[in-house]
Amino acid sequence: MEPIITRFPPSPSGYLHIGGARTALFNWLYAKKTKGKFILRIEDTDAARSTTESVQAILDSLEWLGIDWDEGPYFQSQRAPIHAEYIEKLVACGAAYYCSCTPDEVDAMREAAKACGKKPMYNGKCRDRHLEKGPDTVVRLRTPDTGVTVVEDIVKGNVAFQNAEMDDFILQRSDGSAMYNLAVVVDDLTMGINTIIRGDDHLINTPKQMLIYQALNAAVPVFGHVPMVLGSDKSRLSKRHGAMSVGEYQKMGFLPDAVINYLVRLGWSHGDQEFFTRQDLIEKFDLEHLGRSASMFDMDKLMALNARHIQSKSPEDLAAFLLPHLQDLQLTAEDNVFTHGVIQTLAPRSKTLVEMAQAARFYYQDTIEFDEKAAAKFLTPDTMGILQHSAKGIRALDTYTEASLEDIFKKIMDDSKLGFGKIAQPIRVAITGTTVSPGIFEMLLVLGKEKTVCRIDAAVKWIQEQA
Ligand code: GLU
Repeated sequence: MEPIITRFPPSPSGYLHIGGARTALFNWLYAKKTKGKFILRIEDTDAARSTTESVQAILDSLEWLGIDWDEGPYFQSQRAPIHAEYIEKLVACGAAYYCSCTPDEVDAMREAAKACGKKPMYNGKCRDRHLEKGPDTVVRLRTPDTGVTVVEDIVKGNVAFQNAEMDDFILQRSDGSAMYNLAVVVDDLTMGINTIIRGDDHLINTPKQMLIYQALNAAVPVFGHVPMVLGSDKSRLSKRHGAMSVGEYQKMGFLPDAVINYLVRLGWSHGDQEFFTRQDLIEKFDLEHLGRSASMFDMDKLMALNARHIQSKSPEDLAAFLLPHLQDLQLTAEDNVFTHGVIQTLAPRSKTLVEMAQAARFYYQDTIEFDEKAAAKFLTPDTMGILQHSAKGIRALDTYTEASLEDIFKKIMDDSKLGFGKIAQPIRVAITGTTVSPGIFEMLLVLGKEKTVCRIDAAVKWIQEQA
């Protein structure tokens, strides 16, 4: 069997939005799964809307998602000579022809068709006039007048389009530039693309593209048109539903693995499995289980998946993704061992990397600022003795381990007849400034003996200053 070749052809008129990322993913996964090829093509022929910033933003987001390409990026705008060559071929074999009708004439034809209750369209006037190329001529495809063009869609099943409702559409403008459908077909054809998964907003173009393939005597690729992603109110997902760009999800502290896991599930299923690693997806992805009905984007589900992906990764793997978020908070995490320890204590309790970075703040600070309420309750003359005792005990430790810390706590509990919480909370506030943190022992171990003692001493001093 010939290798599967898929593609992602974004138009660079903005960031990579999550619907586009999902399309890229389906094509990438299918190529990976079948050991085929995934090609990236930038469809930048609309010069007014395409920007280099947006090309870069799309490349950056794909890279962040871990969607790599085997070929490209190709730029459609640089392929005009190839488009022109194919248009000439179509004219030469009689499948296309030059048309000199003016826009006004075409408008009149459309009005006339409408008046007879037909679809407004070009009436084929120049079809058999055998015109030569002129300054104002366009090239039109000679489309069949009868019959149907059937898109054998792997997602939607067979979708039939009446040929009588398709006019001889334009392939090339009078300035020599190719129209969209021609450029897409020629690019897909010359790049060997044989499988096209894309949003169903493109289904309307597919019969036209099929007619171009047929006119070129070329095999039509396999098409799968996936339903659009919807917002919570079931309308097409848009800005008013929240963040749209992949970059925003990156900034919000999502892991790429969680984003791809979530996006794939918005249109594909494997039984009732929800959690997938990247490798899992590559192994299990198939075209048979692409969904026919549109799914709604659900931020809570994405968040829950993100938490699971955070928990499933090693501190070493998470560190690379967490570092930019720590940097955003001006926290410098140069000591890898320390940072891995920090991550280990926070991963089980963080839904996002932003949350994790914020919760990590106390680890990296030289001086701890106490939350007013926490300090009023737990840093008082009454708790000062506990803090002093624990600092003394910890300072005297030769081996600083969970077991030795536990012994110190036990001793203070025995001496003071207080419960664990009454001992742990003042220490927690001294160490973190707040009453919420990872488990006390794991946290003290990560922080190390010196910093722990230093912070407890600082809290004692603070209490004394308040008196
Ligand atoms: N450039 C088109 C878009 O960004 C994609 C065209 C296609 O998939 O055929 O929507």
